[in-house]
Amino acid sequence: MNPTRDYATVSIYGVPFSKMTMKETVDWMASAIADRRPTHVITANPIILMNAIENEHHMRIMEQADIIVADGTGIVWAADYIGDPLQERVTGFDLLYELMKVGNDKGWKVYMLGAAPEVIEAAASRLQQLYPGVQIVGCRDGFFTEKEDEAVINDIVQAQPDLLFVARGAETQEPWIARYREQLNVPIMMGVGGSFDVISGKLKRAPKWMRSLRLEWFYRLMKEPWRYKRMLALPRFVWKVVRDKGKVKKK
Ligand code: UDP
Repeated sequence: MNPTRDYATVSIYGVPFSKMTMKETVDWMASAIADRRPTHVITANPIILMNAIENEHHMRIMEQADIIVADGTGIVWAADYIGDPLQERVTGFDLLYELMKVGNDKGWKVYMLGAAPEVIEAAASRLQQLYPGVQIVGCRDGFFTEKEDEAVINDIVQAQPDLLFVARGAETQEPWIARYREQLNVPIMMGVGGSFDVISGKLKRAPKWMRSLRLEWFYRLMKEPWRYKRMLALPRFVWKVVRDKGKVKKK
C-alpha cells in the first residue's frame, strides 16, 4: 500500500519528490519521531531515479517510501524544467547533520548501520563528539549477509532508536529498509550512502565552490573514477527529461 503524503510533491516519472525545504523536512521528521510513526526516507538523485525507471522492483520501493527528497541537483533541474519547481535541494548528507542538530537538543537515539568496521567506529565517535546530546545507541558495519539480517534487526529493535541511518550503497540499503521496515519499526529509517565515509574523514566532500556550481558529481568522478559507468545515468536522465518534456509528470 502506498503511504498517504501530507506534504506537497512533484511527480517525476511517477516518483513523488517532496517539495518541502530542509527546515520543513526536519520538522516533519521530528513529528514522525514524536508520533513513533515508522518512516522510510529516500534521498534520491538521477542515478537512483533512472534505476527505478528501469527496474520495477526499485520503482515499487520508491512508491512505498514515506518521503523522497531531492538529493541530486539533477532532480532540482528536472523539476524546474517541467515548470513545477522544488523550493530547494535537500541532500542526504545535510539532512543527516540537521537531524543531529535537533537530536542534540531533544536527546534522540541514533543507530548507525553500514560501511566498513573502522569507518563506522570513527563516524560514530565523530558524531558523538559533535552532538553530545544525541545518544548513539548502537552501530555496526554494513558487511553482513542475509543470514545475519535477523540478528542485525534484533539488535536494532532492542536499542529502540528514533533514527536509523543505513549506509550500504543505494542498491542494497533501500531494498533492505523496505523489506524489514515493519520489523524495524523505527520512526526515521534513512539510507545515507557514502555519508559515513565522509563523516569518518575517509572520503572528502566536494569543496563548497564546486557544490555551489552544481559540480559535486564531477568531484566524485575525479575521486572515484570507477563510478563513471553508474554516472552515465546523469546525462541519460537529462536527455530523457528533455525528450519527454510534457510527459515527465506522468508515469
Ligand atoms: N557498504 C556496506 N556494505 C556493502 C556495500 C557497501 O556497508 O555491502 C558501504 C560502503 O562501505 C560505503 C557505503 O556503503 O560506506 C556506500 O557505498 P558505495 O559508495 O559503494 O555505494 P553508492 O552510494 O555508490 O551506491
